[in-house]
This record gives sequence, C-alpha cells and structure tokens, in this order.
Amino acid sequence: MKFVGAHVSAAGGVENAVLRAHEIGATAFALFTKNQRQWQAPPLTTASIDKFKQACETYHYSPAQILPHDSYLINLGHPEAEALAKSRAAFLDEMQRCEALGLTLLNFHPGSDLKQIPVDVCLARIAESINIVLAQTQQVVAVIENTAGQGSNLGYKFEHLAAIIEQVEDKSRVGVCLDTCHAFAAGYDLRTEQACHQTFTEFANIVGFAYLRGMHLNDAKSEFASHVDRHQSLGKGNIGETAFRYIMRDSRFDGIPLILETIDDTIWPDEIAWLKSQMNA
Ligand SMILES: [Zn+2]
Ligand SMILES: [Zn+2]
Repeated sequence: MKFVGAHVSAAGGVENAVLRAHEIGATAFALFTKNQRQWQAPPLTTASIDKFKQACETYHYSPAQILPHDSYLINLGHPEAEALAKSRAAFLDEMQRCEALGLTLLNFHPGSDLKQIPVDVCLARIAESINIVLAQTQQVVAVIENTAGQGSNLGYKFEHLAAIIEQVEDKSRVGVCLDTCHAFAAGYDLRTEQACHQTFTEFANIVGFAYLRGMHLNDAKSEFASHVDRHQSLGKGNIGETAFRYIMRDSRFDGIPLILETIDDTIWPDEIAWLKSQMNA
C-alpha cells in the first residue's frame, strides 16, 4: 500500500490540515504543528487536539500516514552550548506536540556544524540530542531527513545518517526521511532507472530500508550535485518523471508517507493522481 500526499498548511489550527489533505486526494500528509519560523508557540488546545483526532478518523488517516515536520530554527548539532540547549528544548516541545496529537513520527533536518566543529563531533552531538529527547518521550520516532548539503548543513551523505543512527540508543525510535531533491542535489543520481537502482542500493547498504520512515517527493530545480536546495514540480525539473515512477512501483516504499513539497500547490491534486496512476500503469 502506498500513502501519497503533500505538506499541507495548518493555518487556523492543526485540524485544518486534515481536511486540506482530504481535499487534494491525499492518503498521507505532512504538517507543522506550530509556526515553523518561531521559537515559541502556545500549547495545542484540547479542543484543537480533539478536532484533529476526529478529523483523522473521519478521513481515514492513521499515524503511519502523517509526517509532522519540526521548526527550521532548530539545530540539534549546534556548536555553542546555549544555542544547543535552546534547540533541544524546542525539539522536545515538538515531540510532545506530536504525542499530544497521537502521532508517531517527527521529521527534522539533522543540523549544522556552522563550520565551527568537526563533522563527526557534530553528528555525535545530533545523536546525543536525539537520545536526550527520546528519553523524555514515549512513542514518537525521530525521523532524520537527508539534506542537499547547502551551507554547513550535515546529512547530505548516507554515511552521515548512518553515523547518527549508530549512536542513537533506542534504534526502534530513529528513522530517516529521504528527500529526492536533496539526494539529487547532494550527488545521488536519480535520472534513470539504473541510477535509481544504484542510489537506492547504496542507501540499502549504508543506512538500510528498515530505517526508511518517509519520503519527500520533489523534483529539482537545482543541478545535479550542486548542493543547492530548490524544489520543482514532478517531471518539470532535472530529476524527471522516471524516479517517481520507480518509487511508486517499488515495494520498499510501501506503508510510509510519500510527501510532495513541490512548488506549485495548485497542481498537487494532479501530482497525487499521477503518482497513484504510476503504480499499475
Ligand atoms: Zn524535504
Ligand atoms: Zn528542500
């Protein structure tokens, strides 16, 4: 079973995201549970939590189909103690919001060394941050996203993801989300079936599909191996349709949220319908 959707707006309350997902024909969705550009947010109200859960039931979304994304401000590998503590507190709050909503996944970008500490030290710090937060929560899986490697962001190599996972104590509560645009921009080719086969074999060998808990399906406006993160609508970028057809026909991508973060939300219903049609086409 494939779960396909998009990162929908939660404007006006998290419960609204569910209806928006339903309206575009999605069988999965992503959302921010708070304003992603601010550190502080008021707690979710009981009314909002109840409406969210009710809407998920009405429109048939289980926690396995929902991939919340944390704030862009959080850096779990921050070189400075004070800023690191602030990020860890904010990440704990994000996890607790997911728990309150009955959700089981939280997608986040690993972090940045700000070119001030060695890569391995930063990766160890990210793993430590995850350990600290997992110890204070119960059910949510920390889902690390691969990055394009823009600026000083880590997570652009499968080895980075593997190194973090290796240092997380509770392996049942850590996973990864692969973003196709980020992978392509980081130098993992996806332009042909052969290239997809090679990239995903590499992923299987270095990280392992057992850890794959979500995908971001984005074509790329950026060039191959450019380390620039610019999303594009499916089939209109430098990756092309082949990779997305490949993913839809491969059972290793079953049962996880496959989320569009493509740039034109007016065509999300078409993109979702197209993805679904590729399964048996
Ligand atoms: Zn993404
Ligand atoms: Zn991106």
